[in-house]
Amino acid sequence: MLSSARKLWRRGRDFFPVEGFYFDRPLVVLQSDDWGRAGLRDQEGLEHLRSAGFALGGRPYDLYTLETADDVAALQAVLNRHCDSTGRPPCLEANFMVGNLDLARMEADGFHQIHLLPLAAGLPQGWHRAGLLQAYREAIDDGIFHPALHGITHFCRAAVERELLADGERAEFLRALWRAGTPYIHWRMPWIGFEYWDPEQPVVERFLPAAIQQESIGQAVGLFSKLFSMVPKSACAPGYRANDDTHSAWARLGIGTAQNGPGTLTPPHLDRHGLLQLYRNVEFEPATDPSFCVENCMGQADSCFARGVPVIVSIHSIHFHSSLSGFRDRTIALLDQFLSALEARHPDLLYLHDGDLQQLVEKGFFENVHATTRVNVIRKKYSKRQTRQHAKAK
Ligand SMILES: [Zn+2]
Repeated sequence: MLSSARKLWRRGRDFFPVEGFYFDRPLVVLQSDDWGRAGLRDQEGLEHLRSAGFALGGRPYDLYTLETADDVAALQAVLNRHCDSTGRPPCLEANFMVGNLDLARMEADGFHQIHLLPLAAGLPQGWHRAGLLQAYREAIDDGIFHPALHGITHFCRAAVERELLADGERAEFLRALWRAGTPYIHWRMPWIGFEYWDPEQPVVERFLPAAIQQESIGQAVGLFSKLFSMVPKSACAPGYRANDDTHSAWARLGIGTAQNGPGTLTPPHLDRHGLLQLYRNVEFEPATDPSFCVENCMGQADSCFARGVPVIVSIHSIHFHSSLSGFRDRTIALLDQFLSALEARHPDLLYLHDGDLQQLVEKGFFENVHATTRVNVIRKKYSKRQTRQHAKAK
């Protein structure tokens, strides 16, 4: 009974109009997840796992490692070659994982429990990324990175702790990865879930209880502040798995914008917590999308501009990794093409980060070192169902 009432309510809600924000100039935001998240360590870690029986290379995320200071510099250089109609370069909303596994402490107690290492304190045992934290900070000072919060573990800690306690095959699988300096490879073990979402619980209990989410997000905000000497103003939940409790915790901790995954042409809108909800609508993911091409991205961008919706590009950090793959150089070349095409086709283009968009919605203008820019903000009702139809039509 409860379940069918819930379904009916959800279906009704899709027709219920919500007030969205539309704009009369082409706006472009770049959102990027997973910065600071350690994956496969290096060539030695790769060989270690291969000799332990892992046939790595089946999917791009097998080669997910971690950016280097050079990777950040290469991204910074390409973004600095571009500018919008006010002379401002594109700025990447970079969502950071502010912790990793403390593999040294975990090894010391036989990999029987999880210990966390703040990113501000460096990388796990065996990892080397000279100058990486400094490179992040320089990119922020340069206005090329606008740091935001992704989370601490990315996986659901409760799910992993349950498997460690059960001490079966799954625990052994995790320990084999940990011995090679790799926290996890999600597609090979989707049961680890996402930070606020435990996939093997009954459907209505998958999101972690509000109090646990609140505590974890509070801890993440503290670690973020230590890392960057500022509090995060925007957040994106790992795996896009956020519910009303996540949004409530973010809002209480001073976060103003919530990032959502792609698939619709939903305009920015305010939720009941006062958070500005943003939805990605152009997927720029060349290393993981076999059908990727710049023309498709331009087509998706045109659909957004035609409706007065900001282009919000999704581009994960994996595309800028170079140490175990050639992802970075291809991405940089394609991104260069994409930005050039946008600038050529739209002489009144504006590059913004989430904070600018929030300011624009609140005040009708946004300010930065380059300019104070006014844009007409149009408030218009839409229903969820309309944004789905638009997405299908493109
Ligand atoms: Zn992520």
